[in-house]
Amino acid sequence: MSKTAKSVWNNCLLFIKDNIQPQAYKTWFEPIVAVKLTDNALSIQVPSKFFYEWLEEHYVKILKVALTKELGETAKLVYIIKMENTYGNKQPFTEKIPSSHRTAVKSQDVDIPLNNKSRELKNPFIIPGIRNVKIESQLNPNYSFENFLEGDSNRLARSAGLAVAAKPGGTSFNPLLIFGNVGLGKTHLAHAIGVDIKDKYPEKTVLYISAEKFTQQYIEAVKKNNRNDFIHFYQIIDVLIIDDVQFLSGKSGTQDVFFHIFNHLHQNGKQVVLTSDKAPVDMQDIEQRLLSRFKWGLSAELQNPDFETRVSILKNKLYRDGVIMPDEIIDYIAKNIKSNVRELEGAIISLIAQSSFNKKEVTLDLARVIVEKFVKNTKREVSIDYIQKVVSDYFQMDIETLQSKTRKRHIVQARQLAMFFAKKFTKASLASIGSQIGKRDHATVLHACKTVDNLSSTDKQFRKYVEDITKKLSV
Ligand code: ADP
Ligand code: MG
Repeated sequence: MSKTAKSVWNNCLLFIKDNIQPQAYKTWFEPIVAVKLTDNALSIQVPSKFFYEWLEEHYVKILKVALTKELGETAKLVYIIKMENTYGNKQPFTEKIPSSHRTAVKSQDVDIPLNNKSRELKNPFIIPGIRNVKIESQLNPNYSFENFLEGDSNRLARSAGLAVAAKPGGTSFNPLLIFGNVGLGKTHLAHAIGVDIKDKYPEKTVLYISAEKFTQQYIEAVKKNNRNDFIHFYQIIDVLIIDDVQFLSGKSGTQDVFFHIFNHLHQNGKQVVLTSDKAPVDMQDIEQRLLSRFKWGLSAELQNPDFETRVSILKNKLYRDGVIMPDEIIDYIAKNIKSNVRELEGAIISLIAQSSFNKKEVTLDLARVIVEKFVKNTKREVSIDYIQKVVSDYFQMDIETLQSKTRKRHIVQARQLAMFFAKKFTKASLASIGSQIGKRDHATVLHACKTVDNLSSTDKQFRKYVEDITKKLSV
C-alpha cells in the first residue's frame, strides 16, 4: 500500500506517543493534522506560530527520528500555521513554514531580511517569505506619549504607562488598567504604550484590540469551531492591549476565554494593558475572578484635566496644525469645555475650519457660538426624553406606543433599545430609567440591557438597529 500523509503521520505518532509524557502528547501532538505528502516532505498543520515554535524547541529531535524511520534520511517536515480565521484582519495569517528537521529552524534564524544574505543560505529549506509570519499591531502611530500632554489629571496613568513601556511585563503594573470617562485619553494612552514598546522592542509582538472586536472574533471562532486557534493566537502575544473592557460585561463566554488568555500571558511574564470607562469596583456583570485579576496590577484613573492642562492641550494642537490663535480665545474655550478632551479638540477644529472656510477672523464671538453648540449637543445627548424620541422616530412609532404595556415584539424591542441607550448615554440609575420609560422597574431595565447586548452580538439586523440609533444619537 502506498504511503499517504495520514499513514506516515500516524506511524510517527505511534512512535512519539511511546516516548513522551501522555499529557505532552495530548497537548502538542493531538491537535496536529497531517495535510500533504510530496516526495519526502510531510506537511503538518499546527494551530499557531507559538505551537510551531514550541515543537521546534522541544520536539524537533523526536520528530526527526520518527520521520526518518518512515521516510528515510532525506525526509523533510513542513509546518503550516493555520490561523486565518482567528483574526479579523484582511491579511491572511496562513503561512507555510518549511523546516528541515535536520537543521532546526528557530524563529530567530528566520528573521533575516530578504535583501541580504537569505538568498544565499545553504539550507534549502528556509524559503523566503518565512519572515512574513508576524502580527500587525493595529497601533495608531499618531497616538504617542509625546503628544499626550501631562497634567495632574493624568500623571499617574501616564507615568505608569511609561514604566510599562520601558519594561513590558517586568513591572508590578500588570495588568495596567486605565480607566476614566469618555474622551479623556484612554485610547490615546493605550496606543502610546504599544507604540513606545514597538519602538524600544521591535521584536516583541504587540497587539491593540478593542474588547468589542475581540468579542466578535471570539464569536466567529466559536461558530467556526476554532476556539482553540483563537486562544493560541492570543497566547503568543507579548503585549496585549484591550480597549474598553467594560464591553465584556454580561458576555460570559468571552469573559471566560479572556480569563484563560490573561492567566497564560500573566504567568509567562507578558504584559496586559486594559482600559475601561469604570473602575473595577464599579464594573457590572463582569465575573468576580476576572475583576480580581484586574486588581492584581495597577488601576490608574484619568480625571478631568484641569484648566492649565486644557490650555496646553489646545496650544499643542494648534502648534501641530500650524495655527496661531489669540490667548484670549484659547482661554475661553478651555474655560467652557471641561470634561472631555475630545470635545475640546472638536471645538478648536471647528473654530479653525469656520474661520478658514468662511474667511472670517477668529473672534471671541465666533468662539462663543461654537462652544455653545458643543455644550448644547452634549446636553441633548444625555436626556432620556431625547433618546425615546430618536428611538421611536427610528421605528416610526410614537412615544406613547414605545412606553405602552404591549408585548408586541417590535414594540418591546424598541423599548428595550431605549432603555439600553439610556443606560449607555446617561448617568441615570436603572430605577430612574425604568420609571421614565413606561414606568418599569430596575430589573426590567437590566434585562433590557442584557437582551440588547445579546441580540446585537447574535442578530445582524438587530446590530444594525443599534448602530443606526447610535449614529443618530451621536450627531
Ligand atoms: P477615550 O478613549 O478615553 O474616550 P481618547 O483616547 O479617544 O479618549 O481621547 C480623545 C481625544 O483627546 C483624542 O484625540 C486624544 O488624542 C485627545 N487627548 C486626550 N487626552 C489628551 C492629552 N493628555 N494630551 C493630548 N491629547 C489628549
Ligand atoms: Mg476610547
